[in-house]
Amino acid sequence: MGTLPKFVIGNWKMLSEHAHALKLASEVAAYCAEHDHPHVKTVICPTFTQLVSVEEILKDKKLAPRKLALGAQDCYPAPGGAFTGDISAPMLAEIGVRYVIVGHSERRQKHNETSKFVCEKTVAARDSKLTPVVCIGETLSERQDGQTAHVLGEQIARSLPENFEGIVAYEPIWAIGTGVTPTMEGLQDDITTIRKLLERHQPKTAERIPLLYGGSVKPDQSAEIFAIKGVNGVLVGGASLKAQDFVKIIQSAPQG
Ligand code: PEP
Repeated sequence: MGTLPKFVIGNWKMLSEHAHALKLASEVAAYCAEHDHPHVKTVICPTFTQLVSVEEILKDKKLAPRKLALGAQDCYPAPGGAFTGDISAPMLAEIGVRYVIVGHSERRQKHNETSKFVCEKTVAARDSKLTPVVCIGETLSERQDGQTAHVLGEQIARSLPENFEGIVAYEPIWAIGTGVTPTMEGLQDDITTIRKLLERHQPKTAERIPLLYGGSVKPDQSAEIFAIKGVNGVLVGGASLKAQDFVKIIQSAPQG
């Protein structure tokens, strides 16, 4: 596990207009072109309409995906067909996308996506050689009812295919976009629990699965989060929309 890189993944959600997205991508790309953090894998996930333009910016800077890669925020399980409004994994792969977020709580909650459906997307991502970033997390009431481990266990069991190769992002729903983060002791306990669940449900691949934390990550506490044993990176929403903040989070990722 010590050899896994540190991931810094920016989820721009539907929060960035086109002009802002291009400026943001240019600023992050300029930083990544000029500074080498070989232990960090940085990914930016613009909305669908911005992917091609952002990919052109990364190409112009001659950025290897190792330094800065393109991710999407979702994909549909089927490779193609009559699915109005959806985007398939092969369509993402053909324009240079390398990562795809699946099962974000905003999709699970607002689009009623089940873990079974998330698993189908995860398989589709893998079949197109995209790295899936599978999000899991409990609601505040599930946490208050002492259901956290059970909920996370169910999500892990049902959202990940056998021999899963990809990333898992633990995003407690009550921490997303709220400015509230778990205590570091509490987060350490949850990360330890998730690691054990991964070992139980994914015995062959668990040690290769990077485990990220997401939920109100800001540059002033990202170093503390990176210091938690078993955390291999962060999934960042709001703070990824300001190049300066996002860069500070990249800089806070420790080596090793
Ligand atoms: C997210 O949406 O994945 C997220 C973590 O958002 P925020 O950082 O804004 O809480």
